[in-house]
Amino acid sequence: MSVQEKKRDWFDLGAKAYSQVCPGIYAAPTYVCPIWRMPFTVEALDDGRLSKEHVPPKSVGGHELLLTCKECNNTAGTMLDADAKTKEDVRLAMTGRPDRPHRIKATIGGITVNGQLHAKDGSYSLTIPKHLNRPGTSEELQRLGRAGTSLTVEHERYSELGARISWLRAGYLALVAMDGYKIVLDPAMDIVRTQIRECDERRMLTFVADAQEDFPLTIRRVLRVLEPAWHLGWTVQFGPYLVNLPSRGDMTFYERLANNGLSPTVQHTTYEYVGWPTTPTFGLLQNEAT
Ligand SMILES: [Zn+2]
Repeated sequence: MSVQEKKRDWFDLGAKAYSQVCPGIYAAPTYVCPIWRMPFTVEALDDGRLSKEHVPPKSVGGHELLLTCKECNNTAGTMLDADAKTKEDVRLAMTGRPDRPHRIKATIGGITVNGQLHAKDGSYSLTIPKHLNRPGTSEELQRLGRAGTSLTVEHERYSELGARISWLRAGYLALVAMDGYKIVLDPAMDIVRTQIRECDERRMLTFVADAQEDFPLTIRRVLRVLEPAWHLGWTVQFGPYLVNLPSRGDMTFYERLANNGLSPTVQHTTYEYVGWPTTPTFGLLQNEAT
């Protein structure tokens, strides 16, 4: 299937799914962006107002999963995804498993330089490549006395909230690809969409938890939480990140998460594996009664 055909196919599926949930609203086939909820007719595929979105973001190994509008895909998305990517790089570096040298700033005896942190078998080495630094840096370093020289390493900065909202967004979109407009139109998801769109301010105390085990990022699962009762809902797993999303109509979900805490060392959660959407179905293949 060509890129154009694939986009058209996803448009048609989404339009069909929307018209099943909300019949008779639009005369022409219409795809409603799952985040902004703006309606688009098919011309939006050609002029770029609708485009394919990666879930999770491409920079952390995601794949194209559904269509979102330009507004949602380009602006906030890009900033959030950069935070998610940097956080992941730092996490890998700190667990000794970066997939490539990790860029850091090092301050050695008062001289700040650009360095690369290499991890192998749990031990680290630091290199200070000439091409990342201004001329004369290595001479300056050589003049430093060895004894008593301090070394401070600083990772690239990122927004922790931004990184977490990026995972929230990916988890929400994975659910939409699987379950369609029942998710998009669910009032319990309003707070999720607001958090994704207005990402400077935290709306919920907790929505992405860290897994107890150090799962590789390639593990992606949609799970139903069965127990404990206050946690009932969806968990979308991206490796070590567990994105918590409410069941339909559950308006107190995030309040309960905040009240009960999500300390993984004391809580035991029972999950049911639901699947993973490799292509969008928007709930069309499911029994309409569910
Ligand atoms: Zn949008």
